Amino acid sequence: KKGIVAIVGRPNVGKSSLFNRVIREKKSIVEDTPGVTRDRIYGNAEWLTREFLVIDTGGITLEDQPFAKEIKIQAEIAIEEADVIVFVLNYKEGLTEEDKMIARILYKTKKPVLIVVNKYDKKDLNLDIFEFMSIGLGEPIMISSTHGIGIGDLLDQIVHSM
Ligand code: GDP
Ligand code: MG
Repeated sequence: KKGIVAIVGRPNVGKSSLFNRVIREKKSIVEDTPGVTRDRIYGNAEWLTREFLVIDTGGITLEDQPFAKEIKIQAEIAIEEADVIVFVLNYKEGLTEEDKMIARILYKTKKPVLIVVNKYDKKDLNLDIFEFMSIGLGEPIMISSTHGIGIGDLLDQIVHSM
C-alpha cells in the first residue's frame, strides 16, 4: 500500500506551493461528507523509487463554518488519513496563535509529524530556529517551495518516516 503524506498549516504558509512542487499529477474534486469540499487535494509523488500520495489539506473547505473549525477539521483529516504529517510554518512571519492551535491538535497523534519552515528563501546567517523548536514537535526542516531549497532533505525525511 502506498504511503500517504498530509500537508497541514494555516493559510498562506505555502502548502499548495509545496504540494505542487512534489506531485507529478493532480487528481480533482473528491466529495464525501456533506458540507465538506475536497478540491484538488490529492497528488502522486515519487522519491528514491518510493511512491506515495500527498494531500494538501488546505483544499478541504467547510461550508458556513468559522475558520478555526476549518483548520481543526483539516488537521484531524490529516491525522486520520496520513502516515506522515508535514506541518508547514512561515519563516517570514514566525510562529502565530493559529500555528499553536494546529500544534495542539497534532500533539494528540502518535504519527510522525515533520516541522517544515517554508519561505526560507536564502541562507540567513542569523538563523534562530529556537522559536520554531518551541512548538515542541522536533527540529525544523528549512525550505523554500518557490526557490526549491531544502525540498530534497524534506523528501528524504518523509520517505524515512514512512
Ligand atoms: P497555502 O495557502 O498554504 O496553500 O499557500 P500558497 O502555496 O498558496 O502560498 C501563499 C503565497 O506564498 C503565494 O503567494 C506563494 O507564491 C508564496 N510562497 C509559497 N512558498 C514560498 C516560498 O518558499 N517563498 C516565498 N517568498 N513565497 C512563497
Ligand atoms: Mg493552498
